[in-house]
Amino acid sequence: MGKKPKAEPKPKLKEDPVFREMLTRIAGEHGYEVASALVDNELTDDEVTKRTGIRINLVRRILYDLYDSRVVGYRRARDEKSGWYIYYWRIEPERAKEFLLNNKRVLLQKLQQRLEEERNTMHFNCENSCPKVTFDVAVENDFKCPKCGDRLERYDNSSIIAALEHQVESLRQHLAGS
Ligand SMILES: [Zn+2]
Repeated sequence: MGKKPKAEPKPKLKEDPVFREMLTRIAGEHGYEVASALVDNELTDDEVTKRTGIRINLVRRILYDLYDSRVVGYRRARDEKSGWYIYYWRIEPERAKEFLLNNKRVLLQKLQQRLEEERNTMHFNCENSCPKVTFDVAVENDFKCPKCGDRLERYDNSSIIAALEHQVESLRQHLAGS
């Protein structure tokens, strides 16, 4: 299938926008920061707090969420003095990549589905900023906006379609190259 474009250097895990999105979804707003701190380092929760400035309780919850999704792992060692266990956390690069790939596949499916929907659905809206409605709703309301009563016009979704097509294409290339 065509020539492979000259090797564009692969984005590093940390810089991959889907990686970022995925971590945010798994572990909230700060999930990405915590995971990034662990990309090339093995750190305790305390050290993660120092590096990221995120408070310790939140760091622990995030670590747990990431562990639950198998994106991070830990090594346990007993502290000689206190006798307590110390947990050293790290990113599991292979698992994170696998997880990321699966997420990308799911994302691609969703985008393709949305694209189909956008291609097959007619939407209508008024000139005010009311939400758009489907064809059925427009018919039911005699082509008057259900919210403000103004006339409904066919909503032009060609820019949405173009944007979705672009996203689908770049994700496809990304998956093909990994
Ligand atoms: Zn309206």
